[in-house]
Amino acid sequence: MKIAPNAVVRFHYTLRKPGGESVESTRDDGEPTTYLHGADGLLDGLEQALEGREAGDSFSITLPAEQAFGQRQADATRRVSAKYLKHEGKLTPGKVVRLNTEDGPITAVVLKVGKFSVDLDLNHPLAGQEVQFDVEIVEVRAATQEELDHGHAHGPGGHHH
Ligand code: ZN
Repeated sequence: MKIAPNAVVRFHYTLRKPGGESVESTRDDGEPTTYLHGADGLLDGLEQALEGREAGDSFSITLPAEQAFGQRQADATRRVSAKYLKHEGKLTPGKVVRLNTEDGPITAVVLKVGKFSVDLDLNHPLAGQEVQFDVEIVEVRAATQEELDHGHAHGPGGHHH
């Protein structure tokens, strides 16, 4: 089955600056990400590159900042309690962390570490930059009626209720 609107797609990706080190990868925790094609708010350039492909396909694409994480916002900083952060090792300025929000985890960069709180730059670490995605498509299937009603994919790597 080819990827088209209303297909549910599971894929692995590694995100990096072109030719650079991995910033984020689904291989880090082993579980591919899952989305509903045409509905789930994937980056537009990535979603377009997936269209028409099938399980087993691998490809790399480079996206300009406007099609990836946008330009940096000067005012996108926030002070949060350290307990909302997922990270490994010590929190230090410059460290990339995952912040749990009501809309799911987002990637942020530590600016300053206080005794109980941490100042974060909520710009994606790759905001303002050209990025590369290395993609491997694991599974393509038709969405269930429930997934279509909800507008997102269910199951491993998707939404859980
Ligand atoms: Zn749902």
